Amino acid sequence: MDFQHSAKAQDYIQRVRAFIRDEIEPIEEDYLRELHSRENKWVVLPIIEELKAKAKAAGLWNLFFPNEEHGVGLSNLEYAPLAELTGRSFIAPEVFNCNAPDTGNMEVLEKYGTPEQQEQWLKPLMAGEIRSAFCMTEPGVASSDATNMQATAMVEGDEIVLNGRKWWSTGIGHPNCKVGIFMGLTNPDAPRHQQHSMVLFPMDAPGVTIERMLPVFGHYDEPYGHGEIRFDNVRVPAGNMIAGPGRGFEIAQGRLGPGRIHHCMRLIGMAEKALELMCIRASERTAFRKPLVNLGGNRDIIANARMNIEQARLLVLKAAWMIDKVGAAGAMSEISQIKVIAPNMAQEIIDAAMQIHGGGGLSDDFPLAAMFAGARALRLADGPDEVHRGLIAKIEMIKYKAHMAHD
Ligand SMILES: Cc1cc2nc3c(=O)[nH]c(=O)nc-3n(C[C@H](O)[C@H](O)[C@H](O)COP(=O)(O)OP(=O)(O)OC[C@H]3O[C@@H](n4cnc5c(N)ncnc54)[C@H](O)[C@@H]3O)c2cc1C
Repeated sequence: MDFQHSAKAQDYIQRVRAFIRDEIEPIEEDYLRELHSRENKWVVLPIIEELKAKAKAAGLWNLFFPNEEHGVGLSNLEYAPLAELTGRSFIAPEVFNCNAPDTGNMEVLEKYGTPEQQEQWLKPLMAGEIRSAFCMTEPGVASSDATNMQATAMVEGDEIVLNGRKWWSTGIGHPNCKVGIFMGLTNPDAPRHQQHSMVLFPMDAPGVTIERMLPVFGHYDEPYGHGEIRFDNVRVPAGNMIAGPGRGFEIAQGRLGPGRIHHCMRLIGMAEKALELMCIRASERTAFRKPLVNLGGNRDIIANARMNIEQARLLVLKAAWMIDKVGAAGAMSEISQIKVIAPNMAQEIIDAAMQIHGGGGLSDDFPLAAMFAGARALRLADGPDEVHRGLIAKIEMIKYKAHMAHD
């Protein structure tokens, strides 16, 4: 077993690290300060487009696509350390056109989209000209179970009619968010996993109303945000159906393979950043005439953080390697395992880093509070911990089927 990254990955690691160090880190604080000082925060500041153009020119663009045609031909395993680096920053994922939910939506369009859908939506998404949203979760039903969705996507002649209410649609507040993927009920009489379809809708279609933006711990994550949307008889052409009627559940499962572990890769970077801030603060600040690091159990906290990051990183890499080798379906247990472990690990380390920072840790003077909100949200987004644990146990118990007593 070789723990070294490939020569190609190492080259990209150097380049992405240098770009983040030289271009992103020096402006990030000013960028966030300026955005937050604006009355209207749902805007793209010019620096973002400038950085995107520079990243594109440097060949650091769409790094997540594991093929030469759309990306730069990095495998999921090779992409993992790059996503980790971008996880240290709030804006780096977008600068490299590798941010959620666009990556997952691009993967869907690449895998299941028709040539027309790819021309209309995948091309501008890959160029970073537009942004997108994924609208599955509904306020009215337990959405951890994708088969529960009640919003409808009914085929009427050469049109599809969308009705219902969605919430937690990430990215819907972005001024360049031009398209969404809607998951709706098409045939309630079909078998449970073939009742729903995925349909593309333009954000400006008549009948699409963003009713409100939802805060996460009081913050709105501008300019992306998470919205609640009402769909009132939204009519789109039948050609907007992705893959075909009844294939929504299948696409939802496929979409969340690589996309889920991209979040995990970034969470490793976020945890690294929190540990770094923790160590610096604990070294520089003194109390009771000692550096904070030498008080109480603070060295144990640092050691535990290092051990937990290393363990999680190895599992992220294993899950990425398995997706490359056997596909997302064959890596279901590993994907779910890391989807539970990574946000919990990051949340715990960020929490410890906030504690070492004292009151300041909870303010916006440090990125820790926002990072905490991000890690905490990822214990729900793309499926709550409990649902993933359920799947891991289900796969584990297959080995013991012969022993199972009847319920
Ligand atoms: C910041 C953020 C961004 C998001 N972005 C998007 C997005 O872009 N698009 C989108 O469609 N959705 C998005 N979501 C929604 C997210 O995917 C859902 O919140 C999640 O799937 C859970 O659905 P729910 O909220 O309806 O919770 P419910 O389904 O009501 O579940 C609530 C709780 O019930 C328990 N539970 C559920 N099932 C089980 C089980 N099998 N075993 C044990 N306990 C269980 C768990 O504790 C779970 O947390 C986002 C959420 C957040 C917080």
